[in-house]
Amino acid sequence: MSVERTLSIIKPDATRRNLTGKINAKFEEAGLRIIAQKRIHLTKAQAGEFYKVHAERPFYDELCEFMASAPVVVQVLEGEGAVAKNREVMGATNPADADAGTIRAEFAESVGENSVHGSDAPETAAAEIAYFFAGTELVG
Ligand code: ADP
Ligand code: MG
Repeated sequence: MSVERTLSIIKPDATRRNLTGKINAKFEEAGLRIIAQKRIHLTKAQAGEFYKVHAERPFYDELCEFMASAPVVVQVLEGEGAVAKNREVMGATNPADADAGTIRAEFAESVGENSVHGSDAPETAAAEIAYFFAGTELVG
């Protein structure tokens, strides 16, 4: 296993409920280091570009509306096997299926409003990080 970086987003349902600190504590307890972080309010077009891989899915429009409905916190997490480790800490997409103690089990409101995004592979992580951050903003 090597040191990796992955993109995380704390989604609007979580920022609305003031859960940024509680979610960040989960990452840090799992050994993931937050090496970049900023709070932004996405436009629907920016959300649509970020999630374009899902453009054909029935929930795409709803997902883009939701992601632009309130601020998000975009962040880069670093650690051993960070991509898979973050997916473990996040839990399953649908909170009803998420293991106890995961972010989605504890905080997600529904399969759509599920509190966090995490990259699904090292290649997508690199592209997603570059979408939000300049190299000079990553301070490991
Ligand atoms: P993950 O975020 O776990 O990687 P996906 O990549 O499959 O999940 O989906 C991206 C996001 O789209 C999910 O996190 C969720 O916000 C939304 N989504 C996925 N499936 C559904 C669904 N069946 N209904 C509504 N929204 C969904
Ligand atoms: Mg995904």
